Amino acid sequence: MPPIPAPDAPASAPARAAARPAGPPHLRDVDFNEAPFLVIWETTQACDLACQHCRADAQQQRDAGELSTAEAKRMLEDVRRFGRPLFVLTGGDPLKRPDGVELVEHGSRIGLRMAMTPSGTPLMTPAVIRQLADAGLSRLAVSLDGSTAAIHDAFRGVAGSYDWTVRMIRAARELGLSTQINTTVARHNLDDFENLCALMQELGIALWSVFFLVPTGRARAEDVASPEAFERVFQRMYDLAKTAPFDIKSTAAPQYRRVVLQRQVEERRTGARAEAPLPLTAGVGFSVADGVGRAKGVNDGDGFLFVSHTGELYPSGFLPVSAGNVRTHDLVDVYRHSELFTSLRDPDRLKGKCGVCEYREVCGGSRARAYALTGDYLEAEPFCTHVPKKYQRMVERGEAEPVEEYFARRLWQPGTPPPAPLVRAVKARLLQR
Ligand code: SF4
Repeated sequence: MPPIPAPDAPASAPARAAARPAGPPHLRDVDFNEAPFLVIWETTQACDLACQHCRADAQQQRDAGELSTAEAKRMLEDVRRFGRPLFVLTGGDPLKRPDGVELVEHGSRIGLRMAMTPSGTPLMTPAVIRQLADAGLSRLAVSLDGSTAAIHDAFRGVAGSYDWTVRMIRAARELGLSTQINTTVARHNLDDFENLCALMQELGIALWSVFFLVPTGRARAEDVASPEAFERVFQRMYDLAKTAPFDIKSTAAPQYRRVVLQRQVEERRTGARAEAPLPLTAGVGFSVADGVGRAKGVNDGDGFLFVSHTGELYPSGFLPVSAGNVRTHDLVDVYRHSELFTSLRDPDRLKGKCGVCEYREVCGGSRARAYALTGDYLEAEPFCTHVPKKYQRMVERGEAEPVEEYFARRLWQPGTPPPAPLVRAVKARLLQR
């Protein structure tokens, strides 16, 4: 059995977390300057599905440059130096690699909380789910993007995916394995959202992660729902969260936390809420019964580290800017000290309305979406309807542009020349290849 790596920082929050026996983390253990809450590894880009909006632009075949089993084990041991972050094996489809069970077993044995997001294909049989559960998997997360087979399968590009996915969730539940559903909200399924809410109630899940599309990989800017549609979904999520027997969170839309706070403040004002609004956790916490937990405001590079299939270190899978590679850099050092990651954790570096927003510590906007649409990961979030009071006063004094003009000059509109930062970003990405 490999020795459990000692956490790096003495007396730090992650050191306290590492010293604790297995179980859910404590809020005071989470200092995102020292350790992420969540590390996601893109095990492979190979996948048998052909999803319309695939972030990874997945392919049928594995890439020869993928991390080997030995490299992956070393990475897991390096991640353990942070403490006990949640480690998620994603893809592509992690089951396209032959070593998925072995890596879950290794990560679990050295003390990491391991989760996996397999694709909804016949590769995930009840026997494989049992092997993963025996290896110590904490949670199985699957994608479900429509309440019917017709809607989901059209999105995933393969007939039968809906049935395989639902069977996978039921098989995991029968084994007592905690389950999570990830749903991508985009133009194609906005009208299906109410039906999805009802389906989630039936499936007995621990967490519903509602993902708001970022135009990267195969997703296009025109597939993203409008900011107003985002807002309607946030409001519905908040209502559902009050009664649902599972936890609900947003992914790539930290502005949901702003909506949660606004609603809580309003309820407090009208007497409908007894407790004070939660300033940081915004209604989320370490409440999930399976011990996997939820963190305070995770955002790209801020509580979140993504490792690509070739070992590149990104702030998230939707923000493909590299600060190093596990083959050549120390993963812990990159997360704690690189300019990319430290700038993403500094709300004073945010631009435009996000930079002066009263919710910037809680929210900060999706850095990935800002990057995808402007080429600058510190730019204001284009898909948030909120106009901060301070920004409004700056506009009135002539010190800032009105929001529409601000974004009109920075956002890329199909059919028009892209703004300079986006051109630079695309060139930089091409040069990296
Ligand atoms: S303006 Fe920016 S920081 Fe403020 S709520 Fe919107 S996205 Fe969040």
